[in-house]
Amino acid sequence: MAHTFTFIFVALLISTSLTRFWLATRQIRHVQTKREQVPEAFAEKISLDAHQKAADYSTAKTSLAVKEMGVEALLLLTLTLGGGLQWLDTSWAAVLPNHDIIRGALVICSALLISAMIDLPFDYYHTFTIDEKFGFNKMSRKMFWVDLLKHTLVGIALGAPILFAALWLMQGAGEYWWFYLWLVWSIFNLLVLAIYPTFIAPLFNKFTPLADNTLKTRIEALLQKCGFKSQGLFVMDGSTRSGHGNAYFTGFGNSKRVVFFDTLLERLDTDEIEAVLAHELGHFKHKHVIKRIALMFIVSFLGLALLGWLAQQDWFYQGLGVTESSNHMALLLFMLISPLFLFVLRPFMASYSRKNEFEADDYAAKHASAKHLTHALVKLYRDNASTLTPDPIHSRFYDSHPPASIRIAKLAPYLTA
Ligand SMILES: [Zn+2]
Repeated sequence: MAHTFTFIFVALLISTSLTRFWLATRQIRHVQTKREQVPEAFAEKISLDAHQKAADYSTAKTSLAVKEMGVEALLLLTLTLGGGLQWLDTSWAAVLPNHDIIRGALVICSALLISAMIDLPFDYYHTFTIDEKFGFNKMSRKMFWVDLLKHTLVGIALGAPILFAALWLMQGAGEYWWFYLWLVWSIFNLLVLAIYPTFIAPLFNKFTPLADNTLKTRIEALLQKCGFKSQGLFVMDGSTRSGHGNAYFTGFGNSKRVVFFDTLLERLDTDEIEAVLAHELGHFKHKHVIKRIALMFIVSFLGLALLGWLAQQDWFYQGLGVTESSNHMALLLFMLISPLFLFVLRPFMASYSRKNEFEADDYAAKHASAKHLTHALVKLYRDNASTLTPDPIHSRFYDSHPPASIRIAKLAPYLTA
């Protein structure tokens, strides 16, 4: 059975890697062949220069992602079949033979640390070579390292309690430990969502109340018209890190707030900002956020139930290069290989997300203005150097947002009405 599982694991790793590689090559080829001409529908709004910049930006990002994927696949093989995890486990067992939970936590942290160190050069290159070259990076090197340190500390502060809770429940809560862990995990997630806007986000960015009174009046009128209560309108200093613009809602219940990137406010006029906000309100009105959270609960319930069963199967460990079964290894192996098994769900998740985007656009067209939303979308796709000509299959597989041309085409009927 262990051999069969090894075979399934390797076959899956190879087939997903090949699929991802194939999709990436398609994307690069498609974007590059369409590089010489702005699509007709955008010819008046987007210059050839901007179009070519988007093509080259998209190519650079995709080819970096392919390299990162290759390195990650090698790392996964080294850790599992290459004996890396077994070596970590044996090494920590020699240091701490009697402390199961602490040792388990250290084994997991060591593996996650190795994986983070492998990803780090890619992040660095993305920020300081690619984004820099295309004029999006606003971060200094010092800021990059300070951010990394802050992310690590927040990760430890949030991750350590849940990790210890998991190992403790696995050890002492009996057969249904996975169910209790699911309860703890769900509550923990809700808690993080609730404290994120007020306690976590401000560690990284400055949030100031929106000062522009004309805009404020317009937005408040829209919020009222749509029956939406928020705890304030904020501007976030996104420009300190990147030139990309955005707007979002964050938190829920009483901590709900509207956040605009300062970069967005700079580039869009009042009408366009109103339309973008109406799109975001559409997400709320269609309960996309709540549905997403519910889906996450269902997926984590099924995942943990599966883990509860897998943890008792010797072939699960042996098939992945670990000789001795243990709670922490079950947890770690599951974290490492589940993305591989979930990869087939990517296109379905992406399609669901795109459906939500259309619903939100539709809402914005009805409650604000399709014309202004169209203008805003053109500006946002242009200023973020998002390609207007993605490969259709690549886009179907990955894109959480529909390509600009399709979104704008769907808004067209509202323009003539
Ligand atoms: Zn959206």
